Amino acid sequence: MAEAKHLKTDPLTHYPELQLFIAGEWISKGSRKSEPVLNPATGEVLGELPHATEEDLDRALAAAEEGFRVWRAKLPEERSAVLRKAASLMRERGEQITTVATLESGKPILQSRVELKMSTDVLDWYAEEGRRAYGRVLTQRQPGSRMYVVKEPVGPVAAFAPWNFPQGNPARKMGASLGAGCSCVFKPAEDTPATALLMAKCLQDAGLPDGVLSIVFGVPHVVSTYLLNSPVIRKMSFTGSVPVGKSLMKLAADKMIRTTMELGGHAPVLVFEDADVEAVLKMAVAAKFRNGGQVCVSPTRFLVHDSIFDEFVAGFTAKTREIKVGNPLDENNQMGPLIHARRLEAISSIIDDAVQAGATLETGGALIDGPGFFYLPTVLSNVPHNARIMNEEPFGPVAIINRFSDFDAVISEANRLPYGLAAFAFTDSAKRVKLLGEQLEAGMIGINSFAISTPDSPFGGIKESGHGSEEGIEGLEACLVTKLISEV
Ligand code: NAD
Repeated sequence: MAEAKHLKTDPLTHYPELQLFIAGEWISKGSRKSEPVLNPATGEVLGELPHATEEDLDRALAAAEEGFRVWRAKLPEERSAVLRKAASLMRERGEQITTVATLESGKPILQSRVELKMSTDVLDWYAEEGRRAYGRVLTQRQPGSRMYVVKEPVGPVAAFAPWNFPQGNPARKMGASLGAGCSCVFKPAEDTPATALLMAKCLQDAGLPDGVLSIVFGVPHVVSTYLLNSPVIRKMSFTGSVPVGKSLMKLAADKMIRTTMELGGHAPVLVFEDADVEAVLKMAVAAKFRNGGQVCVSPTRFLVHDSIFDEFVAGFTAKTREIKVGNPLDENNQMGPLIHARRLEAISSIIDDAVQAGATLETGGALIDGPGFFYLPTVLSNVPHNARIMNEEPFGPVAIINRFSDFDAVISEANRLPYGLAAFAFTDSAKRVKLLGEQLEAGMIGINSFAISTPDSPFGGIKESGHGSEEGIEGLEACLVTKLISEV
């Protein structure tokens, strides 16, 4: 049953009723298939998530077609005002949004608050950048002629986001599409649906016309296949794993639609002998275990110069043992659970395999007993190349520390994998910094810093880590098409 303009919230837990949001209506489960959404810190059920039926998806597609007509006709400053207002409502409702994000993702609450700031900044960025979708006028080729280039919104976007940034991923997907003047059918992760719904409510309350945005859930490949087979969709934006990205690209190819693919990574971190080891350790341990390592740009392979290797391993291990793991709603805890039982099994298996292959387990390497999906922060050193973890994205709370002594050899190791998302390096040598910038194969390179994501910087990878960028002027451009008009 459709219930217009309403999103029910449990006043005690802050957790909203899980609904679909289609054509401006909040749609309850009714007789639809559904799945439980779990609190990964306790294993308890937070809510029952309805799966969209084919009829629901058809309604969302029809709404996106009509919504695109309405939204693209608005003045850029009108669209900008809606996005800005939505960001401001998110800030006002920040306590509920961050609590819900932590409840369903297990991300420590302080990190959810940082993510709220980042996400509202992203909406504000697209609100502004959408006003600057400029074209250009070319020089005349004959008297009285005129040629000009205009940028237009590409059309309805199908967007699919994972659970690791329950606010950040939706902000990027919705912000880019709506900022460019596109409509959007969005499938957030089934693990973290309520955060995205609360954000959609902010957009609705900010004045987003009905149908411009729909939020649907279901079995991921069923929903994405259905949407991508529709002639209505003109662009796909996906964040997730490389194998799923490849399968979605094949579907997109059949309709020749534009794609932005933000896939996995296996970030190398090169630590040279002139780096300030203590300063690097402080930043590195925090960056590694942020969100339990479930971050696509998470520093993964620490490649440390031979002369500081022992000191680095000892320091990293000591700091890792100090990390407080537990209830993510408790501000004192720095790491919460992993997202679901599958991730816990995946991380256990890849770490066990590394130890069997001959890696040294410096600390961690075990599940934490009790309810929820907790795993100890783990450090492995001297990991051989044939271990799975040296080749597959671990996506969890584990650091690999290996040694190097030669510049060319460490560059070759850093570039060895098909991934090319983020790479980091720590050194005081200006000459080396220049070479690193030229030679590391990654879409984002952090030198003496792990901070590589801001609303105005392009976020995206190369090689099998995907293509296209989110944020930056590139993020808006990805939702625009170029049209040449030649007048005589
Ligand atoms: P997964 O690959 O099953 O799911 C990852 C996300 O993709 C989920 O949100 C899921 O709903 C979505 N998804 C999966 N198949 C889809 C499809 N056919 N169509 C549309 N969406 C689809 O695995 P998981 O266990 O949730 O995560 C494991 C792997 O996913 C990690 O190892 C990592 O490589 C990758 N991942 C990457 C990011 C990132 O930020 N790039 C984020 C989360 C997960």
